[in-house]
Amino acid sequence: MGTDTAWTVFRAGRQRPAAIAALQRRRLADLVTYARTHSAYYADRYRDIPAPGARSGPTDITRLPAITKPDAMTHFDDWVTDPAVRRAGVEAFLADPAQVGRDYLDRYVVCTTSGSTGTPAILLHDLRAVAVYNALGYVRALPPTLLRSDVIWPLVRGRGRLAAVFVTDGHFLGNTMMARRVRSKPWRRRMQRLLSALARIEDIVGELNAFQPVVLGGYPSALEALAREQRAGRLRIAPALVNAAGETLTDAARQRIGTAFACRVGNHYGTSEAVGLTYECSAAQLHVNSDWYILEPVDDHDQPVPPGRRSHGALVTNLANRIQPVIRYQIGDQIIVQPERCSCAGPFPVIEVSGRTDDTLVFATPAGDRIRVLPLAVATVAEETPGVAACQLVQHGPAALRVRFRTRPGVDAAQVWDVLRTRLSAYLAGLGALEVSVEKDDLPPQLHPRSGKFRQVYREHGTPRPFGPSPDARPGPRMKT
Ligand SMILES: [Zn+2]
Repeated sequence: MGTDTAWTVFRAGRQRPAAIAALQRRRLADLVTYARTHSAYYADRYRDIPAPGARSGPTDITRLPAITKPDAMTHFDDWVTDPAVRRAGVEAFLADPAQVGRDYLDRYVVCTTSGSTGTPAILLHDLRAVAVYNALGYVRALPPTLLRSDVIWPLVRGRGRLAAVFVTDGHFLGNTMMARRVRSKPWRRRMQRLLSALARIEDIVGELNAFQPVVLGGYPSALEALAREQRAGRLRIAPALVNAAGETLTDAARQRIGTAFACRVGNHYGTSEAVGLTYECSAAQLHVNSDWYILEPVDDHDQPVPPGRRSHGALVTNLANRIQPVIRYQIGDQIIVQPERCSCAGPFPVIEVSGRTDDTLVFATPAGDRIRVLPLAVATVAEETPGVAACQLVQHGPAALRVRFRTRPGVDAAQVWDVLRTRLSAYLAGLGALEVSVEKDDLPPQLHPRSGKFRQVYREHGTPRPFGPSPDARPGPRMKT
């Protein structure tokens, strides 16, 4: 982390909201100028918008068109601001697992997203932006948690042993960042363990029991599965802190996880496009790092939604990253900007988020067992299938999964489906769900009929519930995830 960057971040946190707003406007004007001069994609999108000059004043963000992930990804080579970066080259880099944790062209951190809109994206971050993300993490996100005596001492005694359960075998953000840190300081390997959410729960439990992490991170669905294992006595760890990220953490889930592990549960909200978008303060509220990000709550026509009202979606602007500018970029999350200031007296706006709400799938086996399947894990298996552009998985019976997908242009859809079905069946069988029928739906990915939101993985009414009482009263059914 650059000391200058950390200092800049620290100083902004001491400012009044008006000063932060001024900083934000200046950084936006710089970013827009940079994007329209270095990115053919933005040059084209902004061609009718006058360049900000002395007379036209600061850039009014609402005059800029919103961009969508599918559209921007279609124009990837024009979107990026370095002509040395080409989609074909980046994809070759991503296809090589040995490159995880290395910087592309020695100067860009690359990650892929498992998209909450069903379309995966490739995101590059320049090293200056990465320094900002790190500074936001160390200067703002960490202290409210670390300065608590019930966290700091166990952390010191446990030498900071950190375990995280995420999708590990790919260039996903958490994985890439962790691999990068281990690469730069190999001793960290002993202190950090990344476990795959795609593995069997028994294996994850075994590794965690042996490693005894002081900090446990993961998707809420993975943490809930582990909380259940802890309650059942199979998992025996005593973390000082549990951190949830990647999916929406509901209050109920937070309570269940916190009770099972008897510790504080932290919540992280950000995206691969906007790393370090928020931090959770000492009052457990999410604050937007508005000196480096602009998060706009919008309705279904991308028009502003006032504070206090739940939005339909949100537009995010990342003021730190230049290589692949993210300006008014649609993310599907519904947010509420709180009209009042937080009790922590921090100058940054407080938001409430209902973002990714995929379901944990539960399949019944003929023997009466229930197999739990984590949504991000199974979605990744589907999305990583060559030729798949977008997908959606719907459980519609105790042992039935319906797959909706779109293919990339120029591929044979029947062939893609063959591979996709085989991969999903093999993955489910590996978890013990041997007899799930995996069927193709003729429809492409759909918005949810009731909420109108896109849910990538969900259970239809009438399928088994993941965390409720067991439907059969037989003693000790085997629980898997
Ligand atoms: Zn606060």
